[in-house]
Amino acid sequence: MKFIMLGSGGYIRIPRACCNCRVCIEAREKGYPYKRLGQSLYLEDENILFDTPEDINEELNHLQIREVDNIIYSHWHPDHTLGYRIMETLRENKGLNPINVYMPGYDLDISLRGNKVLPFFESKEYCKLNILEDNVNIGKINIKRIPLTNGFASGFIISEGNNKIFYCPCHAISIPIIEELKNMDCMIMNLGNLYKDDTSLTNFKRDNLRIIEELKPKKTIFTHIEETENTTYNEFKEMEKQYKDIYFGYDGMIINV
Ligand SMILES: [Zn+2]
Ligand SMILES: [Zn+2]
Repeated sequence: MKFIMLGSGGYIRIPRACCNCRVCIEAREKGYPYKRLGQSLYLEDENILFDTPEDINEELNHLQIREVDNIIYSHWHPDHTLGYRIMETLRENKGLNPINVYMPGYDLDISLRGNKVLPFFESKEYCKLNILEDNVNIGKINIKRIPLTNGFASGFIISEGNNKIFYCPCHAISIPIIEELKNMDCMIMNLGNLYKDDTSLTNFKRDNLRIIEELKPKKTIFTHIEETENTTYNEFKEMEKQYKDIYFGYDGMIINV
């Protein structure tokens, strides 16, 4: 499987508009990989996109993605969904089949003035809506939804034959410690706070490192890297040296599993 990290940023992008912190100034001057757009992952094998942040059009252009046939949503939070209009961009006047959209086991309920947007898009044949209760086969890829313990977000086991990754783009603090998530070829998860210690949010040392210890993936790659961590691309590269088999993702990172 060939994955491309389209966006490695979090709910606040780097550079952040109107921000003159050193991280944002450097990103504005140098561009990628100092720049981090909203988190999104693409699986090239079957043209599968995971989540649609507002930056998704720019991300697809930046990484020269040729086609999107499937979109899988992890949860409703705005940083993962608000680029949903990419469906219109990708299908209007193109004569292509509707994009297969897989939502968690409930309605994403993106509404404007009381009108539900996704059923409207379905009526325009931009997409076909599916509820992903348990798992789905898309070509040779199997995607199994793993509900997180917070009750609203999901992670996914993505597999092809014996090759497996566990992808949890947000709320890693709520990853269930269960047998089937152990010993993955790769785990991709959101980076928790490096400094702030809020018990309701993922923290790097308390949660990310504990989860790695308990689930023992062969390697771990972090995404959803926030501007608010005030940490530069080069500083993350330095941090990597302190840990074994832990990597900080960046926009355009290729992950072969
Ligand atoms: Zn900034
Ligand atoms: Zn998020």
